[in-house]
Amino acid sequence: MSNQNIKVVVTGAGGFIGSHLVSFLKQKGYWVRGVDIKLPEFSQTDADEFEILDLRRWDNCLQATRGADEVFALAADMGGMGFISGNHAQILHNNTLINIHTLEASRVNGVKRYLYTSSACVYPEYLQEKVDIAPLKEEDAYPAQPQDAYGWEKLITERLNRHYFEDYGFNTRTVRFHNIFGPQGTWEGGREKAPAAFCRKVAVAKLTGDPVVEVWGDGEQTRSFCYIDDCLNGLDRLMQSDHHEPLNLGQDRMVSINQLADIISDIAGIKVEKKHIPGPQGVRGRNSDNSRLRQVLGWEPEISLEEGLSRTYAWIEQQVKNKMAMGGETAMEDLSHSKVLFRNKIN
Ligand code: NAD
Repeated sequence: MSNQNIKVVVTGAGGFIGSHLVSFLKQKGYWVRGVDIKLPEFSQTDADEFEILDLRRWDNCLQATRGADEVFALAADMGGMGFISGNHAQILHNNTLINIHTLEASRVNGVKRYLYTSSACVYPEYLQEKVDIAPLKEEDAYPAQPQDAYGWEKLITERLNRHYFEDYGFNTRTVRFHNIFGPQGTWEGGREKAPAAFCRKVAVAKLTGDPVVEVWGDGEQTRSFCYIDDCLNGLDRLMQSDHHEPLNLGQDRMVSINQLADIISDIAGIKVEKKHIPGPQGVRGRNSDNSRLRQVLGWEPEISLEEGLSRTYAWIEQQVKNKMAMGGETAMEDLSHSKVLFRNKIN
């Protein structure tokens, strides 16, 4: 069957990875329906059809997945550490509803391939207590002890996908992303992740001449970061595969948050002064073991951190310049800090 006869639904198509995925699938010739509660913020969608639907609701999930051959399930109430460390009830509630309804509606509608986007946040806290940890293998997820409700929900949905495959023969796939970054992702407001937050802070430092860049904690916590184009390639390959177990998708080069800030400062061509302040840091160390990824897909991410960050920094610096032109010094003061969002907490 040629790709133009294959109907693909992308949920979360108004978000960072989803909006890129829609464009990627269109370039490959698929017919694509995007679904989200909002339109993409930074570009027009390339989807053939885009429906604004709240996927916490069962009837909306039935509508979203009607007639689909393949579903990429990306919709989630999510953000960086400043969001997921402080909104456990909301995240667990909203994402549980989105995921159980999207999966069951896809099954009822006869979807042929289903891919769910999980996270490295499923891995247990006790394996991530040191800066220099061993890279995480897929089987390390058990015995389970994710740090946040976000990770618990992802783990439960992974199990649900597995049981749908075992009990109903429903054709599920599960990917575990390790920090995906790139242009056209959230870069301000409190939901942004570390690469975007540092690109923004370094751009502010460059444009205002104030070299101070805030870092949450001592900055020695480690992570790996994967560029969006590699993520899209991996998603496509996994959807085409017959692999039904969870699979890591990320880079396996571990850097500290301080090193990440230094790489971005080098790209911007400035020297920054790091100011270490209290803030949520997540686990102490995390890296992806890509052995199974290589074995299953015969491929692994190829774009270097420096290359990916150069492209991302250029885009974010432009966003900061646009904001500066609109809001002047007040906007710059706001953009030089990261927010912790505690939206629904009882004080
Ligand atoms: P994102 O926040 O940019 O996109 C998620 C989208 O889901 C948003 O556009 C949001 O509006 C939509 N959404 C939220 N609630 C909804 C609802 N009730 N109904 C319909 N749509 C709703 O996030 P992203 O970075 O593009 O992540 C995509 C997926 O990948 C998510 O499932 C996320 O948990 C997972 N993931 C991402 C990363 C990463 O580094 N970006 C890492 C691990 C896992």
